[in-house]
Amino acid sequence: MNTIDEIFAVYGIAGCGRSLMPVAIEQLKRVGSNSQVVFIDDILDEDRMVNGHVAMNYDRFKDIDCSYKFVLIAIANSSIRQIIGKKLLNDGILLWSVKGATTLIMDNVNIDVGAALSPFVTIGSNVTIGKCFHANLYSYVEHDCVIGDYVTFAPRVNCNGNIHIYDHAYIGSGAVIKQGTSDKPLIIGEGAIVGMGAVVTKDVSPGLVVVGNPARVLLK
Ligand code: UDP
Repeated sequence: MNTIDEIFAVYGIAGCGRSLMPVAIEQLKRVGSNSQVVFIDDILDEDRMVNGHVAMNYDRFKDIDCSYKFVLIAIANSSIRQIIGKKLLNDGILLWSVKGATTLIMDNVNIDVGAALSPFVTIGSNVTIGKCFHANLYSYVEHDCVIGDYVTFAPRVNCNGNIHIYDHAYIGSGAVIKQGTSDKPLIIGEGAIVGMGAVVTKDVSPGLVVVGNPARVLLK
């Protein structure tokens, strides 16, 4: 059998992966590629079909004889994205970035590898984004924001201008984060969690969970 040239995969068959697979396939069609796209999920003992696509575990994917392999890690948990990202790097597999046809990216935007930008996401001008960013349906990142590595936005996050969000922060669905200024950006610290619908009006310290309007620290 001939070695195939390239293969693409969406890692994860749960909600995130099944929502991103059609976006990934549509992106390949847009660039005129007929390459195969499969699911990878470690829960699978043997290959099966998921929503009409071949799904296999990582060891099976690794064994495929192919010159170039590209993987979108479609798992919401940011620590798992980081662990899988390292594994792929060690195995010489490339991180794949996927965006919808309706995703809008403005001027001077730098987005590192492995991003999942769902349909109707908008990224404003002069924005920098780290590795494996997830922005779910209808979220936006306005101008002059700096987003770290492995940051996750649930659907419809409103991230206004001049906001800095550090690594592994999670922003819940519908949250609104107040605009900062160029002298004093609003800061969401590393690993912080913003609850769904929260209205964040001031900095959130690393590792804290904030909820409500105006957002306050959730005491455990
Ligand atoms: N998963 C995996 N390898 C890992 C960790 C997770 O294949 O090391 C898979 C897991 O089996 C599940 C998916 O990733 O199918 C993550 O699903 P989750 O329920 O966390 O939901 P989602 O990230 O899609 O929202």
